[in-house]
Amino acid sequence: MAELDVTFLDVGQGDGTWIACPDGTKILVDLGSKKNGEIAGSGAIEYIRQQLAGSTVINYLFLTHGDGDHYNLLPELYVAIPGLTITNVCIGGLRNDYSQWVKDNVFTPATTFTEFADCDKDAIDSPRWTFGDVKIYLLSANVPTKEAGYKNEKSLVLMVEYAGRKLVLTGDAEMQSEDKIVNTNYNSVAGQAFLKSFALKLGHHGSENATTDFWLNALQAGAYFASGDQKWGHPYCSVYVRIINARFVRVVPEFKHGYVCGEYLPVEKDYNWININNLFYIFSNLYVVTLSPPVTILPAVDDGEDIGMVPNVEPGWAASGSHYGYAVKDNGEIMISHSENLEGNPPNTGWFTP
Ligand SMILES: [Zn+2]
Repeated sequence: MAELDVTFLDVGQGDGTWIACPDGTKILVDLGSKKNGEIAGSGAIEYIRQQLAGSTVINYLFLTHGDGDHYNLLPELYVAIPGLTITNVCIGGLRNDYSQWVKDNVFTPATTFTEFADCDKDAIDSPRWTFGDVKIYLLSANVPTKEAGYKNEKSLVLMVEYAGRKLVLTGDAEMQSEDKIVNTNYNSVAGQAFLKSFALKLGHHGSENATTDFWLNALQAGAYFASGDQKWGHPYCSVYVRIINARFVRVVPEFKHGYVCGEYLPVEKDYNWININNLFYIFSNLYVVTLSPPVTILPAVDDGEDIGMVPNVEPGWAASGSHYGYAVKDNGEIMISHSENLEGNPPNTGWFTP
């Protein structure tokens, strides 16, 4: 049965998402890492090389915005895959927000290169890209303008739809973009219905300035992903609390795993790390989870655990990252997978009917 496979790559403090469409189209959304690139990065590139299975063509590259942690692994990708061709390139922000290397070696050779207008977005019935039965909508780009403002908010916010299920990828978009999407771009009964999604990649690596209550309530996503590391507190515990309080996150009884979140301690001027065992359907690239299929998604409930009371840290947890996969069959079933096969561990997968 045809599947759409989306893999959140383990790039540490950065971002990278690999999308393999049922019609064979290969899409990369960002590929960069900062701070703990020594922990992650090469595994992500090897994963892409393996997924290409001898091909040297990536059909689409979306660079959400011009921060290095979203594109600075591209030179390494070109080294790992000699003759690599990236056919179509779409960027948030301005061409000049990016490095000279990327402009010369990725943007200029591309068959198509697309920048977007100020506050660009798609109509609810008009995806900008269609690959077989996969639709990709542009929910937001270049807020407030391509020229002015804060790079993060210029991020492309993409919605990937397949078999009636939707996944939202946010780059480093924060509350200004979330507000624009919910309260301007899709502020109608039909627009609000359109935004309902199964899964959300947290904006700005799970920063406190993204993932507002109104954004969570608009999307009502059941599964959440984050990409970050321990250096800057991403993803923040305060964001996890917002997600849990929003009550849309799925609870999976047999699906016991831990998650790691961070907080900033103003007095110590340092970060604190909290490693929590819980049943919630939240994934980040910071730690290893174990899935035990088959599992059943139940309506979200409060399991009574107080996130603030959980004691601190498991040493060394950041030494092993993970890839997370999200797949949708054309009958609408969802799979969340954890693929540790690059580190020698077997992948775990489970199918869910939302
Ligand atoms: Zn970033």
